[in-house]
Amino acid sequence: SVKKAERGQVALHNATIQNAYLNKIKLKDRLKQALKEKTLTVYYQPIVNADTHHITKLEALVRWFDDEYGMVSPGTFIPIAEEFGLIHLVGQFVLEKSCQDLAQIHKAGFSDVGISINRSVSEFKASINQVKLITSAIENAQIPYDSITIEVTESLATNRYTWRTLNELRKHGVKVSLDDFCTGYSSLSNLIENQVDYLKIDKSFVDSLMSDLNKQVMIDCLIKLSDKLSIDVIAEGVEHLSQLEKLRELGCHHIQGFFYSPAKPIEACLTLLHTNAFVEFAGAERETAAE
Ligand code: C2E
Ligand code: MG
Ligand code: MG
Ligand code: MG
Repeated sequence: SVKKAERGQVALHNATIQNAYLNKIKLKDRLKQALKEKTLTVYYQPIVNADTHHITKLEALVRWFDDEYGMVSPGTFIPIAEEFGLIHLVGQFVLEKSCQDLAQIHKAGFSDVGISINRSVSEFKASINQVKLITSAIENAQIPYDSITIEVTESLATNRYTWRTLNELRKHGVKVSLDDFCTGYSSLSNLIENQVDYLKIDKSFVDSLMSDLNKQVMIDCLIKLSDKLSIDVIAEGVEHLSQLEKLRELGCHHIQGFFYSPAKPIEACLTLLHTNAFVEFAGAERETAAE
């Protein structure tokens, strides 16, 4: 009967929710374990000056390789860490590791390179002194304050308190970047009211750039506004040469994406720096074009 079928569906629906919940709990437990055993790691994705093809910064992206699940993406486990109060542990691990790795990069002779660290808005709470945590990690690693950028995603949760903390960090010289701009909640008033050093155009925006003239107009305006506010615009998720060329034409010269490189372990990034990898690559491109 219809009623029976409906009941069946409800039961199935409940079972799905319960499974999702149990999966989440299990993932949370394994993450806790990984944090305890310090088996998380950090990969770095180059941010490149598209005019010189030099790496200017590396974005620290946390990586978790679990024995059972394999590689779990941060898009999956960061929200779980936030929900179960583990985000501070993840954040502290990434912060310390990134500062230490940057010290190594500077010692290798690349003192102009900086690191950009993602920080969840939920990490900015009155009970936790983010300014102290971040400046201490920088001091311990003996790297300059302005070689560290903190990336936050603008969201409804980006409240006064978060902005105040970010401003305090800026007074120390730490840079602030507004991540995933042009998505969801981004607002121009936030840009004007709060000082940031960088803003990152989200991948979803870059994806439709070539086919959507409106997006090109928006980026053009955004770059003009950012120039006035002394903000550098970075495009993320750039995969194709056509996108890179369009972005440069619109005045965006800081590029991040698979076109140059995905996130890699520190050793691989040092190799990219030592071999001046992208400059060579651009040279080869020019030669091919000249032939
Ligand atoms: P995000 O900060 O916007 O980072 C960019 C994401 O896009 C990264 O994914 C990166 O690998 C990916 N990406 C970059 N270029 C390309 C491209 O050309 N094509 C494609 N398909 N993807 C590209 P990932 O590493 O999976 O990180 C996802 C999100 O997880 C990050 O987005 C960030 O919000 C969060 N996250 C990562 N690491 C941390 C962390 O240490 N702390 C916190 N709080 N969040 C983190
Ligand atoms: Mg980011
Ligand atoms: Mg981003
Ligand atoms: Mg993004």
